Amino acid sequence: MNTSFDLNSLLRANIRGLVPYSSARDEFKGEGSVFLDANENAFGSPLDHAYNRYPDPLQKKVKVKLSEIKGVPAENIFLGNGSDEAIDILFRAFCNPGVDNVILVPPTYGMYEVSANINDVEVRKVNLTPDYQLDLDAIAGAIDGHTKLLFICSPNNPTGNSIRRQDIETILANFDGIVVIDEAYINFSKYKSFTYELAEFPNLVVLQTLSKAWGLAALRLGMAFASTDIIAVLNKIKPPYNINQATQDLVLEALNNVDAVNTWIKETVNERERLHKELSTLAQVAHITPSDANFILVKLEDPRGLYIFLTNEGIIVRDRSKIELCEGSLRITVGTPAENKTLLAAVRQFYK
Ligand SMILES: *Cc1c(COP(=O)(O)O)cnc(C)c1O
Repeated sequence: MNTSFDLNSLLRANIRGLVPYSSARDEFKGEGSVFLDANENAFGSPLDHAYNRYPDPLQKKVKVKLSEIKGVPAENIFLGNGSDEAIDILFRAFCNPGVDNVILVPPTYGMYEVSANINDVEVRKVNLTPDYQLDLDAIAGAIDGHTKLLFICSPNNPTGNSIRRQDIETILANFDGIVVIDEAYINFSKYKSFTYELAEFPNLVVLQTLSKAWGLAALRLGMAFASTDIIAVLNKIKPPYNINQATQDLVLEALNNVDAVNTWIKETVNERERLHKELSTLAQVAHITPSDANFILVKLEDPRGLYIFLTNEGIIVRDRSKIELCEGSLRITVGTPAENKTLLAAVRQFYK
């Protein structure tokens, strides 16, 4: 529980007082047959679908469906044009440029820092420990009265491991800013989501996305789960029609295919464990971080040489070897069984 958290005092003053844009769809919500309120093309659209009409600004149908799947009430869900939009809106809601700061715990997802830089917000970096867990004492030391947000990615990108739940709860209970837990890879993890703790922690924001396990990266749909008060703030700031009609339609259809997605998740996890096992047999592989995600971080001999060799074979992985605490490592996404076989053969060929 966190009892000293005060959302209003955390918000930027201009956001607290903001009068949001009121769209035609906001001002009239009832039934009608002749819509002459939004300057749309009344004749239709060149496509089959009714794309001539503005989409639902609050994406109610999508949220109802997501609510069933996630077990989170629709009023606790915010949808963004990718999680990246939710991240940016959190900065704009809480961080006064040039005044406030946020805590990041590298090595982690790069977008938090880019978003901070775009918004001219100071980044305080507290490295993860060598086993990629939170350094709670150092985090406590970095927080001051202007610390508004703290980002934790779990399972973490690029390391793949989950952050200890007990440590995250310690921060949630003691930090009076917003704790953002990015669960982009939660579907591949054996641990349960923090969405089940929303009632307990008013300062909690959980991010998830349809870009990874759901296989919908191109549609751009990110989710933020939080208290209704925080959701109201995010909705106030977002562009009125941030999720387009095509995405809303296609996502509604995709969400009926939970079974197919769950099958892919199982297969991905099996393949991840197989890749881990096979790569560990190589003498040139020094360490593989146990992963709860759909990729593995592998520390090995001559990472740059292997990276270039693989690229020449048409196999593209991510070179993380120059990143602090990931020295000598490549990040490899789990592919189909055939792709993983191709990768393993190429790695063996390089070290032969
Ligand atoms: C891939 C990824 C995302 C996804 O962002 P979208 O904008 O939803 O595609 C978010 N967070 C992390 C840590 C990621 O790796």
